[in-house]
Amino acid sequence: MTDIVSYAVQGHLGVITLNNPPVNALSVSKGVLQKILDAIKDGEHDSAVRAFLLVGSGRAFCGGADISEFGKPAAVGMATLPVLAGYMDTVTKPIVAAIHGFALGGGLELALACHFRCAVAGTQLGLPEVKLGILPGAHGTQRLPRLIGVERALDMIVSGDPVTPEKALELGLIDELVKGDIATAGVQFANRMLREAREIRRTSGLTAKLEQPAEAFFAAARARVAKEHRGYPAPLAIVDCIEAAVTQPFAKGAARERELFERLRASTESKALRHLFFAERQVTKIPDVPEDTATIEIKSAAVVGAGTMGGGIAMNFANAGIPVKMLEMSQEALDKGLAVVRKNYAATVAKGRLKQADMDQRMALLQGVSSYDALKGADIVIEAVFEDMAVKKQVFERLDAVAKPGAILATNTSTLDVNEIAAATKRPENVLGLHFFSPANVMKLLEVVRADKTSKQTLATAMKLARTIKKVGVVAGVCDGFIGNRMLHGYFREAGFLLEEGATPQQVDRVIEDFGFAMGPFRVGDLAGLDVGWYIRKRQAATRPAHLRTSKVADQICELGRFGQKTGAGWYRYEAGNRAPIPDPEIEALIVKASGEAGIERREVTDQEILERCMYALVNTGASILEEGIALRASDIDIAYVYGYGFPRYHGGPMFYADTVGLSRVYEAVKRFHAVHGEFWTPAPLLERLAREGGKFNG
Ligand code: NAD
Repeated sequence: MTDIVSYAVQGHLGVITLNNPPVNALSVSKGVLQKILDAIKDGEHDSAVRAFLLVGSGRAFCGGADISEFGKPAAVGMATLPVLAGYMDTVTKPIVAAIHGFALGGGLELALACHFRCAVAGTQLGLPEVKLGILPGAHGTQRLPRLIGVERALDMIVSGDPVTPEKALELGLIDELVKGDIATAGVQFANRMLREAREIRRTSGLTAKLEQPAEAFFAAARARVAKEHRGYPAPLAIVDCIEAAVTQPFAKGAARERELFERLRASTESKALRHLFFAERQVTKIPDVPEDTATIEIKSAAVVGAGTMGGGIAMNFANAGIPVKMLEMSQEALDKGLAVVRKNYAATVAKGRLKQADMDQRMALLQGVSSYDALKGADIVIEAVFEDMAVKKQVFERLDAVAKPGAILATNTSTLDVNEIAAATKRPENVLGLHFFSPANVMKLLEVVRADKTSKQTLATAMKLARTIKKVGVVAGVCDGFIGNRMLHGYFREAGFLLEEGATPQQVDRVIEDFGFAMGPFRVGDLAGLDVGWYIRKRQAATRPAHLRTSKVADQICELGRFGQKTGAGWYRYEAGNRAPIPDPEIEALIVKASGEAGIERREVTDQEILERCMYALVNTGASILEEGIALRASDIDIAYVYGYGFPRYHGGPMFYADTVGLSRVYEAVKRFHAVHGEFWTPAPLLERLAREGGKFNG
């Protein structure tokens, strides 16, 4: 077995090779850092060794810290990265990093502690810690500004985005761009540094350059970062650290960095972001569908219905280079659908985000067709016709008749029973729901709805397809609204009830936006169009249980012809050409009147109640969804909400948020609401049990 860090003397070089697959993570407990330190100490005493070369085996130099060690007690007696990096500063023989694949996070910090750096083309170099709610905690915030200048270091660390080696060379982050096999190129580069007797350049000994007065620069940086990263503490802490790199000696700056790193690591925001990092890796796993389940290859696709959703769905395939046919009821509808797709691509080209040639290539992959026969060869067909069971069944019967054996037949229904749709075919094992979100070419979430008879192969293929078309697939069971929309129902219901009880649309929206959503429920309604929900409510009115409370406000607004932004008025008023919502006294009067008609005495509604009613409505339904097995795990619900509904990432998703509040507190509130508002708030048994046991959803 190869050691996780190997050390060999090659000519004048002590070559230290990281060998901790898959990404050469700097695991403290496995002793990766300690072994690097031991190797350096060995070579320091070896007169044959004149310089050190640090290189990674496998696909990359180093992916950084082992984040599974976060939150665990430190391994006793093992070197950490700050200790190793600090020691490297004292070494009098040159230490060279030869980088390939990527040097990210701690991996780049390790390279920054070296005295010279080279990299091959195609490498990524970056400090992405901010994306996990922390900051580079092993001198990254102190060494990088000293090496490449304050402005550029600030941009790199606050964004967390990697740079190419070409850019890195321009920035002075690496000393040379090398070619060929990294181990060989690294040896050549290191030997040349020796031959040329290059003076050791310790990043800790450099001065962080800033072309402008520090005080004004950092005040402006703080203001900009606070605005662009609202709710996230890490970017502001990064500004503090970089300021220390300018105003303090290295050791003091490093101490400040450590202090802020520890504070961030313990923060709820960082825990939430780390939770999502792992949740995203879990979401692809389906307990009874092994990872090596055979899948079918999707080489061609078809979409039935070229409306709002169908066009966007088809674009996903064209974007992935998969030919896709679109079937409509009439040539006119087809032309309209294709024209919308073309317009969407053209807008992206106009913004400079897509080349005209790429647009042409994608459009060439899209073909409008007018008969079911044309769908014969498709490996997958996704239906996106009107939300009407009779129409959907008819479509599936016809698809069953023409589609090739084994082809996947998927429905994009939002509310209908996928089992019933599957039963319209003789191959229910090949049927499932693929619930895209609008706009379907943009939104990352894809609910993959597993029906009773959906085969494992069909499900595994759909999950793989999700990745191919760059979506995050979340498995959901069959129920009204699946995971996301079923939960959302209660959120909008409570937002509406709160108005009747004394709140205003602007108060509710403000509370939800302060929590971190881009828009509150009423602004969302105005953006999406209020007429859609109105038609649905009218259709459902006959079957709605009469004893349940309903609010008439939304319907009354639609009756005034106010459908939201598209009509210039909805819950708010809008000035022509401006999307800024203006609170409207007419709506407030309408709400007050509705309260009176419903016999509700208006009262002062606190911000806290608004937040609790809206969020715990999500959480209580989420608990039922989990218990019923509609979602496989709480973290899947969190992923769905973050990618499909704009739930603030720094709260980690609704279920993680409930865990951080404490489930007994959530449960007590739900019970309180139940006592006042009745059956909508019946506590989910799972919530009750976990609250009693002191448990968590994401346990
Ligand atoms: P839409 O009305 O914009 O488009 C439906 C299209 O289907 C129309 O162009 C219509 O001509 C065509 N069509 C109807 N019957 C057909 C048939 N028999 N054969 C071929 N084409 C037919 O509707 P939409 O918003 O795109 O919704 C489509 C489906 O997607 C619905 O099931 C809806 O519930 C679901 N969905 C919609 C959204 C959304 O935000 N709009 C989100 C997720 C899912």
